[in-house]
Amino acid sequence: MSSRKKLIAGNWKMNKTSADGMALAREIVVEVGKLNDVEVVLCPPFTALEAVAKEIDGSQVKLGAQNMHPEPNGAFTGEISAPMLRALFATHVILGHSERRAYFAETDAFINEKVIAGLKHQLRPILCVGETLAEREAGDTLKVVQTQLEGGLAGTNKDQAASLVIAYEPVWAIGTGKVATSEQAQEVHAFIRGLLAKLYTEPVAQRMRILYGGSMKPANAAELLAQRDIDGGLIGGASLEARSFVELIKIA
Ligand code: PGA
Repeated sequence: MSSRKKLIAGNWKMNKTSADGMALAREIVVEVGKLNDVEVVLCPPFTALEAVAKEIDGSQVKLGAQNMHPEPNGAFTGEISAPMLRALFATHVILGHSERRAYFAETDAFINEKVIAGLKHQLRPILCVGETLAEREAGDTLKVVQTQLEGGLAGTNKDQAASLVIAYEPVWAIGTGKVATSEQAQEVHAFIRGLLAKLYTEPVAQRMRILYGGSMKPANAAELLAQRDIDGGLIGGASLEARSFVELIKIA
């Protein structure tokens, strides 16, 4: 067992209007709003951030966004900046999710700009890394994860590391119902912690949270979360209903 506090984050993706998001957040707050031994972060779409912020106000539940632009303001039509997220009381931001890498051509260099900007504006980045099925089958998993991790974290230092969360999300496990085995996940998590130790020193790496993401649900969470280097989950599908999400939090 580690001393790292488990973190369960719900990535709602492009789901929930602000009214639906409020209802879901309200149910979650009733069940786990006072819980202190697990950190809970809800990541609604931009349009529901303000409504969800009001619902979780006064509880232990925290607010995260799913993306942001690295610039603080300017002529970037359709984009949202870190100061805008801070103004809505967001504390976290998911960066480099594989859906953004795949559908919006986000590169490690661009994701790195966002990580740096997030840290500058007191947001905690949840940096996502993970290999595709083809990359895993080619034996390239660790190489891909290393490139994404080092690329995404370039220019950050060990004082900033305390504000960083890493999420290992094998692309082939996201939304597919195919979960990585706990051994597969633990192997990559341990590898990531080793890389973090090289970047920031061993004691700093030991304090950082590395989440698993990819079809995590109540039925498979206990085994994953029992692994030495798995410190929580980034939950997609199972975060869209209070029952499964709350169950996951209770398992953690
Ligand atoms: P999933 O999504 O739990 O639906 O697989 C996880 C994620 O993409 O963050």
